[in-house]
Amino acid sequence: MRRLTLHLHYCEHDGCTEWGTFGYARGKDQPSKWYCREHKSDGEHWIGKS
Ligand SMILES: [Zn+2]
Repeated sequence: MRRLTLHLHYCEHDGCTEWGTFGYARGKDQPSKWYCREHKSDGEHWIGKS
């Protein structure tokens, strides 16, 4: 089993417990939000890319 020593980031979609593979940040000073493959459109919408 792989030990994760870096910060954990799961999908931020409401109620979703999948791993957040896709990270989105509005700017380099902003913390990233992470979403799974299924909900990565949430992240794209959040950064205004939609
Ligand atoms: Zn998700």
